[in-house]
Amino acid sequence: ATYEDWAREDSYHKSFLMARDEVLEYALANSEAKGLPDIAVTPAQGKYLKLLAQSIGAKRILELGTLGGYSTIWLGRALPEDGELVTCEYVQKHADVARENLDRAGLLSKVKIVVGPATETLAKMDKKEPFDFIFVDADKPNYPTYFKQCRQLVRKGGAIFVDNVIRRGGVSDLSITDDVRINGVREMLEVVKEDKGMDATTIGTVGEKGYDGFMYAVRLE
Ligand code: SAM
Repeated sequence: ATYEDWAREDSYHKSFLMARDEVLEYALANSEAKGLPDIAVTPAQGKYLKLLAQSIGAKRILELGTLGGYSTIWLGRALPEDGELVTCEYVQKHADVARENLDRAGLLSKVKIVVGPATETLAKMDKKEPFDFIFVDADKPNYPTYFKQCRQLVRKGGAIFVDNVIRRGGVSDLSITDDVRINGVREMLEVVKEDKGMDATTIGTVGEKGYDGFMYAVRLE
């Protein structure tokens, strides 16, 4: 199968399972108009994140890597009335566009955007206020650190979803040794392997954004 086949499948399934959504379309169009890169999750992935968070009854969600808030909108929609979402973004301009998009989505009251390096934001968080669901989608070289930090911030039974862990097969291609993103994923896998309190699996995905995958980890103890 080729990229065109994957994109066609995504589009075909979407035609049954996803209604047109002006809020999400606006978020993507506004992000593009403001010059943000086209690296948000796909609609199918965004909806999957929402369904996962909903299925564990998430009331507190953490996101690393806001960009224009596209995945934030999906995750925000999983929350009950009194739920909250904290999303971490390094680039002020991305955060500004995300604020516009979240406002349009009617989600600003539930979402707090924290601008700065996510490692520093997480280090300042109170572990007594844990999260039910964490979506990791920021800079890949920091993935080992993010996993260790998020593991301290997720409640027992809660989940950490880490995106882009296959990278077109590059992560398992050991002839590649100098890619900092791939090395970040590999080091994170070492960390997860040693962490007996977390149980995890990786699932490969193909679709309109190509071949990649995610890791889903649940805190056991
Ligand atoms: N989750 C978004 C979505 O699907 O709509 C996409 C996030 S994009 C792949 C990654 C984002 O992480 C970018 O906006 C980038 O500026 C941000 N980022 C990069 N380094 C960061 C850091 N050290 N701390 C926080 N955010 C960072």
